[in-house]
Amino acid sequence: MGVIRKLSPSVVNQIAAGEVVERPASVVKELMENAIDAKARRVEVSVERGGKDLIRIADDGEGMAPDDLLLAFQPHATSKLSEVDDLHKIRTLGFRGEALAAIAEISKLRCQTRRADADEGSEIQIEAGIAGPIKSCGGPPGTVMEVRNLFFNTPVRRTFLKSDGTEAGHVAETFSRIALAHPEVHLTFRSGGKIVHDLPAVTGIRDRIATFFGRELAESLLWVEGRLDGISLWGYVGHPSQSRSSTKNQFLFLGGRYVRDRSLSHALNEAYRGLLMVGRNPIAFLNLEIPPEEVDVNVHPTKIEVRFRDPQRIYSHLLSTLRQTFLASDLHSRLQAVP
Ligand code: ADP
Ligand code: MG
Repeated sequence: MGVIRKLSPSVVNQIAAGEVVERPASVVKELMENAIDAKARRVEVSVERGGKDLIRIADDGEGMAPDDLLLAFQPHATSKLSEVDDLHKIRTLGFRGEALAAIAEISKLRCQTRRADADEGSEIQIEAGIAGPIKSCGGPPGTVMEVRNLFFNTPVRRTFLKSDGTEAGHVAETFSRIALAHPEVHLTFRSGGKIVHDLPAVTGIRDRIATFFGRELAESLLWVEGRLDGISLWGYVGHPSQSRSSTKNQFLFLGGRYVRDRSLSHALNEAYRGLLMVGRNPIAFLNLEIPPEEVDVNVHPTKIEVRFRDPQRIYSHLLSTLRQTFLASDLHSRLQAVP
């Protein structure tokens, strides 16, 4: 007798959910990204008990038609991709069609949504992956997602969660990364009923940096800009006097998505060689825009790591753009001394 059997869809979904949803902050990330993909101008995020009890994200984006509402929560269902070829030209934050299915599998979820051209909205409730009927509802155009009791049906995972305060801290970190990447969107964040941030839409990111890191730091930043064969790089980097002992305040955004990349962090530190003492790290808020076919964002379920077709070219573009910025600034003389 053989021992291999096909896993049931609900077990498959729970395993997949584990890859996408590690903690409340992961849910906040996925839902905020969906709101931005839906072209929301305004997104309100609220959490209770660090997101363990409630995560609520309300947006004024495109909304969904009733027929799409059920599909949105099916695994591998997306409006952002249809062919394999599309994978090489992704311009949205999402495309895997996994997040809503994963979140619905491990929570009690309610979604209300309305398209601008519809007379009324529609609503669905899903508990542990089991969907109730679609009902009509009122409300303005846009989408409200309410996720309650995360991991209620996977008690072991729930025990892995940290204190409410720690989880709220992770949510705040996720919120700040998205806020820095998308200054064009009005964002608010409430935790435990209190407003933590209310950030009106702005054109540049300096105001957002000031919100999270203080006006003094924001004012001392150096503007960086460089273009090379379709690669554009722009943003701010810190004056050497604003260096930190950790690399936590180095933000790299690729196509509006916060990413981590060892090689680019190395290029950043390399650019400051001779300007910082050993063990100190620069602050940076850098945006990189490269042709979608030059990068594979589909290497990690949460897309925090990416793979560049020609990493060396991006490395040297970053390094040389930063060096030119420093040479044109008051750091000029200090750089001359660097071998
Ligand atoms: P993905 O974002 O990878 O497409 P998701 O599971 O996150 O997958 O979402 C599935 C689909 O549901 C999206 O492709 C989109 O069509 C729709 N959707 C999700 N959230 C929203 C929202 N806030 N507003 C409008 N449509 C949404
Ligand atoms: Mg998504």
